Amino acid sequence: MTDLVSKWNYPTTVRFGAGRIKELPDVLEAVGIKNPLFVTDPGLAKLPVVASTLKILDDAGVPHGVFSDVKPNPVESNLTAGIEVFKKGGHDGVIAFGGGSALDLGKLIAFQAGQTRPVWDFEDVGDWWTRADAGAIVPIIAVPTTAGTGSEVGRAGVITHEASHTKKVIFHPKMLPEIVIADPELTVGMPPFITAGTGMDALAHCLEAYCAPGYHPMADGIAVEGIRLVFENLPKAYRDGNDLVARAHMMSAAAMGATAFQKGLGAIHSLSHPIGALYDTHHGMTNAVFMPYVLAFNREAIEARIVRLAAYCGIAGGFEGFVRAVDKLRADLNVPHTLPGLIKGLEMDAARKGLIADMAIVDPTASGNPIKLTRAAALSLLESAMSGA
Ligand code: NAD
Repeated sequence: MTDLVSKWNYPTTVRFGAGRIKELPDVLEAVGIKNPLFVTDPGLAKLPVVASTLKILDDAGVPHGVFSDVKPNPVESNLTAGIEVFKKGGHDGVIAFGGGSALDLGKLIAFQAGQTRPVWDFEDVGDWWTRADAGAIVPIIAVPTTAGTGSEVGRAGVITHEASHTKKVIFHPKMLPEIVIADPELTVGMPPFITAGTGMDALAHCLEAYCAPGYHPMADGIAVEGIRLVFENLPKAYRDGNDLVARAHMMSAAAMGATAFQKGLGAIHSLSHPIGALYDTHHGMTNAVFMPYVLAFNREAIEARIVRLAAYCGIAGGFEGFVRAVDKLRADLNVPHTLPGLIKGLEMDAARKGLIADMAIVDPTASGNPIKLTRAAALSLLESAMSGA
């Protein structure tokens, strides 16, 4: 019985369904935001999906500011600039609108604008979050436009520390958005590469959470259904971006992944984070490259669980069948099999490989891997992802 101890956290109110973005003014009123800062990224800012959402605010007479200086894999200068706009505009809340990058930066602006300590003092380490002035955090409405990170139901924001080339996870329970509008219509414009990468991110979250050690049967249950939804719907959404049913199921799978990964993540993320920080690659696509190598590495610890999972998902052949299904999914989505396939012309000398292995083993996700991620293991996984062997 002594092992059956854990802590369960659940997400927030999600208004799920096609067309529900029109409820944005109502949601702002419910939360008490009168003058929101709308945070998005520069690519999205040029698309009709942003113009039509801002029109909903205009038509309802809601004053608002817009900030879109957000890099994919956001950095501190994006946060500083966003906070300046937030303060200048006298805003009282944030609408975080976009993929994980814009969602995270919007959440971080709402969190950090009223703090006196630097943002790095609130990294997801122990109880560092208790140093924050919780009363100074303004409410957040999250509106995802990709289906992958699940940041809309999470209590953290990821930001790259440029000086050390590391991705840092900033955590506070009040960074959880008050209300989420999960409207799959907003995701139909995603190009296939982003559909594939974000969808594989949702799969990586569910899979690593399910395989992480520890007692969390609710996270496990959410993760297995999330995995089934990805196998059934991601190829459809990739082939036909207008398939709203597939888009809706992928949006659910993304939120389920982020709900499940409160249990832990693992070596896919531990290796993907340094690669993303050093080479600015897409997070989900980088996860997808590492997935089969990490599954093989963890086999001894996860085989029984994966056999159960495969049976639930209707995948024949036990562990090997599941790995084949992952390989097929990657091939169907044109996921590169190796890092040089993802980053054209990539070469790494021994020093660079050593640096990445060093970064991977101290990444906070490493402790969730079911087999200890030693430096030698990280190096060997990196070699596999470089060569494809
Ligand atoms: P992203 O937010 O970086 O967006 C990728 C690209 O897709 C951008 O160019 C964007 O303009 C475009 N895009 C987004 N929605 C679109 C749409 N509907 N139509 C057309 N184009 C669209 O990608 P992402 O994968 O959603 O987020 C990745 C970021 O999220 C990384 O910084 C990663 O570290 C972070 N992340 C955070 C968490 C968390 O729990 N907070 C979890 C995983 C990843």
